[in-house]
Amino acid sequence: MNAKYTIDGFIHIHTTGDISMNELHDRIGGRFMAMSTDEIREWQSQALARSVAQAAKSPFYSERFKNMGLDPSDIKSWEDITKLPLTSKEDLRLSYPAQMLTVDQEQVIRMHTSSGTTGKPTAIFHTREDIDNWAELMARSLYQAGARSNDVFQNMTGYGMFTGGLGLHYGAERLGMWVIPAGAGNTARHIMLIRDFHVTVIHATPSYAMHVAERMLQEGDDPKSLGIKMAVLGAEPYTEEMRQKLQDIYGFKVFNSYGLSEMNGPGVAFECENRNGMHLWEDSYLAEIINPDTLQPAGEGEVGELVLTTLRRTAMPIIRYRTRDLTRIIADKCSCGCNHRRLARMVGRSDDMLIVRGVNVFPSQIEEVLMRHKWLGGNYLINLSTAAALDQMTVKVEIAKDAFDGSLDTLRSKRGELQKELKEQIGFTAQIELVESGSLPASEGKAKRVIDERG
Ligand code: AMP
Ligand code: ZN
Repeated sequence: MNAKYTIDGFIHIHTTGDISMNELHDRIGGRFMAMSTDEIREWQSQALARSVAQAAKSPFYSERFKNMGLDPSDIKSWEDITKLPLTSKEDLRLSYPAQMLTVDQEQVIRMHTSSGTTGKPTAIFHTREDIDNWAELMARSLYQAGARSNDVFQNMTGYGMFTGGLGLHYGAERLGMWVIPAGAGNTARHIMLIRDFHVTVIHATPSYAMHVAERMLQEGDDPKSLGIKMAVLGAEPYTEEMRQKLQDIYGFKVFNSYGLSEMNGPGVAFECENRNGMHLWEDSYLAEIINPDTLQPAGEGEVGELVLTTLRRTAMPIIRYRTRDLTRIIADKCSCGCNHRRLARMVGRSDDMLIVRGVNVFPSQIEEVLMRHKWLGGNYLINLSTAAALDQMTVKVEIAKDAFDGSLDTLRSKRGELQKELKEQIGFTAQIELVESGSLPASEGKAKRVIDERG
């Protein structure tokens, strides 16, 4: 037993010793985590058949299956996946509000919507069992990364429709962590709570974690002094270089967390202690990588669009959902012992790809170059405009606090070097605007990195 926290005689005893290994095993879905590759495949075959039969109860899928002459009972093996139709974001929009619901209203205990900013959102429904399974996925993700029930967890993302808040919250509680549901924004309060309650694990978007760090640095405070052990960062794309920069500033380990509302939210894929790709929970999701143009399967290990099918969801199964996220599957065995295959860090979304003067560029390629430099801060903005009928790209990036030594000449030459380095990466010359630390719009959730003002 270890007392972690004492104040005015109040002692909170938080220990891993108070739950049995069996109970822990159940809470985190230990039987699924420990599956062999053969067991996973066997389970997937049965679960896919169940999922398709369940989906067929919804008005949307029953009509779609009928139109293609598909009998759900023909789906017997995971290998039958390609017989099934793809589902797009547009299909989800068309089925709004509830054409994909498969259960009676009284069985639904929660809904979420995706973060789309225009038009109708996509609504996702959950039964009690769905919420339980999701919490289990999150709990095992956190456990696998090294979080334990005696950790204090601060959730720094929005609660509400956004799935990152409640998703992590339920998972962390299920693991038995001490949960602080601080929510998005109010940076000063976050810092205070982390200090006062000796927070060891945080969850945030990478851009918000960076913002908090830079706020502290501006105020002459040291993020390392917070003593945070690990950070679960996700909900938006970020690079290895961004991870490294955050780790250098805070002195914590960053674990990549991937998910999307359509597949519950976080808890789809998560890094283990090795932090070399995210284990995708294959008992709950059947993954394919396709070529987004031909819609045919990508070659083994090739980058393509991730397509996911829910295997354990009741209220709203989704079949072959086109995520638009570009990644590849890492099939090599992970030394952590987990046989669920891994997803490589997302390259970006196919709809985030910028075409500038005919060249394809992902914002992540630009971030990669910027984050290599210690003299630059962590916030940047890519601006696209048209001048003399030509695309122009301006990258605005903050200078790190105290990096300016008063010499404009030095700064100009650093900017010149950066411009060259960026050109080598993206193939054309972008304008670079160096701005003061803290001057670009800060993000509390998903950062908006690109402003496209081309006609
Ligand atoms: P939403 O459903 O609105 O929460 O958004 C989900 C989307 O966020 C995914 O489809 C990805 O594009 C993005 N996303 C979430 N987590 C990550 C991550 N770890 N790395 C890259 N992109 C992510
Ligand atoms: Zn692993």
